[in-house]
Amino acid sequence: MAVGTAMDERRNLDAGTQSCEALVRAAFDRIRALDGELHAVLAMDEARSLDLARQADARLRAGERTPVLGLPVVLKDNFNWSGLPVTCGSRVLDGYVAPYDATVVSRLIQAGAVPLAKANLDEFAMGSSGEYSAFGPARNPWDPSRVPGGSSSGSVVSVAAGYASLALGSDTGGSVRLPASFCGVTALRPTYGVLSRYGLTAMASSLDQPGPIAATAEDLALAFSVMVGADPRDSTSVDLPGSERLASLRSADLRGLRIGLPREYFGEGLEPGVRSSLEAALRVFEEQGARLVEVDLPHTRYAIDAYYLLCTSEVSSNLSRFDGVRYGLRVPDAGGFPGMVAGTRDRGFGPEVKRRILLGTFCLSKGYYDAFYVKALKARALIAADFDRAFAEVDVLAGPVSPGVAFPFGTKTGDPLAMYLADAFTVPTALAGVPCLSVPAGLSEGLPVGIQLIGPALSDVRLLEVAHAFQSATAHHLATPTLSA
Ligand code: GLN
Repeated sequence: MAVGTAMDERRNLDAGTQSCEALVRAAFDRIRALDGELHAVLAMDEARSLDLARQADARLRAGERTPVLGLPVVLKDNFNWSGLPVTCGSRVLDGYVAPYDATVVSRLIQAGAVPLAKANLDEFAMGSSGEYSAFGPARNPWDPSRVPGGSSSGSVVSVAAGYASLALGSDTGGSVRLPASFCGVTALRPTYGVLSRYGLTAMASSLDQPGPIAATAEDLALAFSVMVGADPRDSTSVDLPGSERLASLRSADLRGLRIGLPREYFGEGLEPGVRSSLEAALRVFEEQGARLVEVDLPHTRYAIDAYYLLCTSEVSSNLSRFDGVRYGLRVPDAGGFPGMVAGTRDRGFGPEVKRRILLGTFCLSKGYYDAFYVKALKARALIAADFDRAFAEVDVLAGPVSPGVAFPFGTKTGDPLAMYLADAFTVPTALAGVPCLSVPAGLSEGLPVGIQLIGPALSDVRLLEVAHAFQSATAHHLATPTLSA
């Protein structure tokens, strides 16, 4: 990590051996040096970030301390940060400027974090590789001929390439975990509702969750600690029990911890290098006293189907607001209003977004609603019940984030189904609403592999403590790609 962990920065800022302004200037230099190739960043406002940095320095000098005071953070470009464009990786928002701050963004800023940049993403967070960004994909710093994973590709690359020690992504069905696994960083998808969705542009509202990204679980906890807490502007938000333990995260005592290994997650499709990294990671847990138990999540095989029916249904509804009237792009049409709406949506949306709007509209139409949408809801309930049963027997679950490592560009763009299958191990937890982490677990052929840790609803703090214990015993999270800057 070229800029060090957030914890290192925290200590230096508190000790006065480093200023936030210097940190932010160094970050901009690094972005200028590397981002021509990596393309993680879509927009910056250097003057504004430097102004916020000087404010943070003044607060530090006055003796104020918060978990994130003076820490730079990169924001996925589907979060509103007032005054900057929010593109969602789409042409349909051309010219649109965010009029307000998302709750998670305003909480970060109030606590003194300094937003540095808006980060590249798959259009409206739909995708698993970053390749569906209308502005061209971000690249994997471990191997720029490979995808960084998506959809929070730019946020994850920003941490992996050392632009910032903290970033914010969103996870609807895997979008912080998959890129974290592909780029060797740590990321949390919190329990649904623990972070406010207010100001995060909606993709599929019953699944969307903001998710912090960092080098370590300890770093994640710093950012998470200032963002959690119910928000009156998001009626699905809840308080997180134990959140006072986040600001100085301790390692969980792993002795006696029961770790469930879902049989369905260790089947044939796993690449051998991923399997061996996971096995080695699980041995570390065992050496520290954890007990491994095989469990079943029998409805896992319906997860991709259920997810892509429910997600697209919600997408078709949420994205109806982009009509050329209220936001961004407007393509005038001599035929009047209907032609303007159709022309705007045709020009503004990319192929994956259009595919999902069509599929979702189909699922929700008369005659198909019960056969597809309602059936998918039933499958979702069965998948959630699988997790409830498993957590009656074990404390956490462990498995792969992805069946393979980062793939070369273009491998899956010709086949939408192949792209959807990359999410096989990340969508079940999203459907169930339970917290999960991607934690670096080694390299396979020089590319990072993540292990996924999953806990029962609202056990987010405990899950981070378990990951911290693992990272205290391993060094995978310290491995960094070789970059010339
Ligand atoms: N890859 C999944 C999808 O395309 C998840 C995306 C996400 O989590 N935002 O829907």
